[in-house]
Amino acid sequence: HAKHMGDRRFVAYSEDMAQRSIEMMNLENDLRHALNRNELELHYQPKVAGSRHHVVGVEALIRWRHPRRGLVGPGEFVPLAEDSGLIIPIGRWTLATACEQYMRWRAQGIAPPSISVNVSMRQFTDSSLLESVREVLDRTGVPAGCLDLEITESVMTGDVERAVATLNALKALGVTLSIDDFGTGYSSLNYLKTFPIDTLKIDQTFVRDVSHDTKDAAIVTTIVTLARNLGFNVVAEGVESQEQLDFLLASDCGLFQGYFVSRPLAAADFTLFLQTCQTDRQHAQA
Ligand code: C2E
Ligand code: MG
Ligand code: MG
Ligand code: MG
Repeated sequence: HAKHMGDRRFVAYSEDMAQRSIEMMNLENDLRHALNRNELELHYQPKVAGSRHHVVGVEALIRWRHPRRGLVGPGEFVPLAEDSGLIIPIGRWTLATACEQYMRWRAQGIAPPSISVNVSMRQFTDSSLLESVREVLDRTGVPAGCLDLEITESVMTGDVERAVATLNALKALGVTLSIDDFGTGYSSLNYLKTFPIDTLKIDQTFVRDVSHDTKDAAIVTTIVTLARNLGFNVVAEGVESQEQLDFLLASDCGLFQGYFVSRPLAAADFTLFLQTCQTDRQHAQA
């Protein structure tokens, strides 16, 4: 009987697998057209210092407005875009769109000091990255120092010499570099000495239970100390509550991002958010 059950489960499992891989193929096929059909959009989430209204940066996060599936998150299609290589043109679009939007906010006098764009492994190792960044800065007029690129530790696990060369070349353009999801990768701490990094972003898995899990608390305070001692900025990701915020502020981590301040917003909504922050600041000054 057990064997029979096992077989049935196996059949159900493989049908499920087949169904899933068909779905993935359909999604990949749709993704090929997503750029041309203008189905991709960026949402924006503030990075703030200390208080909710002191916006020090904004992170661009990609979404796909799929005609049938609705709004699809990057977790569902960025891996697919990586595997298929579509991440290269998509990444170029993301960089350009983020920079163009940033210049609109500058023209309105409401731009935060910097805009961050996520760069995944495949993009980072692609030989066209440097030229894409240079081109978009030239064309849009974004000051290089206002563009921050978020990379993950995974780039340190491949060809390290090449990775260092790429990072140095990016830094030479004047952009800043952040390590995203810090603490979740498999790389050695050794790279922190040699890589021209500006910011560590503490992964949200450590932040989630920081106010009641002593181990997470220890990890977060250790990352903050590490960043301070090495001269990096440190940003906490995924801050959702006052309790988490209180812990972070007490731990000398004054920069944070998360639903507690704002979810990622469509461009028009983020514009309103920035305008409100400015009004609040003006009232505070008056
Ligand atoms: P990430 O860069 O670490 O971005 C943070 C993720 O956490 C975002 O998910 C954001 O919406 C979410 N988040 C922010 N605050 C909170 C919070 O308080 N609580 C919780 N639970 N989540 C929060 P999202 O937008 O789904 O992006 C997931 C990942 O996809 C990103 O992680 C990044 O690695 C990748 N990604 C996003 N946009 C792009 C892009 O334009 N290019 C590339 N290559 N990757 C991207
Ligand atoms: Mg990021
Ligand atoms: Mg992250
Ligand atoms: Mg992530």
